[in-house]
Amino acid sequence: MIDTHCHLDDLVTLQGLPGVVARMRQAGVSVVVTVGVSPDRWAAQKMVAEQVRVLGCTVGLAYGIHPWWADRVEPAAGLAALSDWLEQERGNTLAVGEIGLDSATDMPDASRQYALVEGQMDLALQHNLPVILHERKSADQLLKMIRHRPGLRGVVHGFTGSLQQAQQLIERGFYLGVGAAITHPRATRLRATLAASPPEALLLESDAPNQSGHAHWGEPNEPAYIIEQLAVLAELLFTDAPTLANRLDANARALFGRAALTPTDQ
Ligand SMILES: [Zn+2]
Repeated sequence: MIDTHCHLDDLVTLQGLPGVVARMRQAGVSVVVTVGVSPDRWAAQKMVAEQVRVLGCTVGLAYGIHPWWADRVEPAAGLAALSDWLEQERGNTLAVGEIGLDSATDMPDASRQYALVEGQMDLALQHNLPVILHERKSADQLLKMIRHRPGLRGVVHGFTGSLQQAQQLIERGFYLGVGAAITHPRATRLRATLAASPPEALLLESDAPNQSGHAHWGEPNEPAYIIEQLAVLAELLFTDAPTLANRLDANARALFGRAALTPTDQ
């Protein structure tokens, strides 16, 4: 199975690499996409990916500037750094991410967030890469940016928006990332939205070490735990977990490219 959104470098400092990878493999999660947050961390992210590969898992790399870093990364300098990095890592990058907008209170200045996300969407288009979007109270603003950029592909990760927003994103060819939020019994609106969405538009993701699920509340999240989300989603979609896992893996390969996400043992 493929975990389409993980912060491997954060996870490693919290949990230790061999244990994380052993639990992933035991759970049947052999492929992971690790996302970037800030230019000063891309090199470390790449190094951790290499260590995980040595331990036998396939790792896809996405690079970007997360909206939470918008107060520390000056937009013009950040975009120039990303442009250079994507050039240097051409062929080893499967997406631009994690980028987006966070409209919760206490978030970095909105105009800096806008400059960063729009510039990064344009870079993704130039490099023919999909985007991995962070959305919090910002789905409508992101939809507007997507509509202004025909041909832009991607996923809204950890989707928690409304059914209408889900449908508008799917109409534009975007995927919805299904995170651990779905495992919380009180997530009734999210569950209803995903139950009404076509399985062809969904991706499975941990966002580890963030967003722990119901059974792991208070502990760091891990890629291995996506099997718990898979079980809940299979029930919602009236299917069985293995069939759904195949569907979701195929979706991930359709978005990010088949070659980059094929396990080394297949
Ligand atoms: Zn994330």
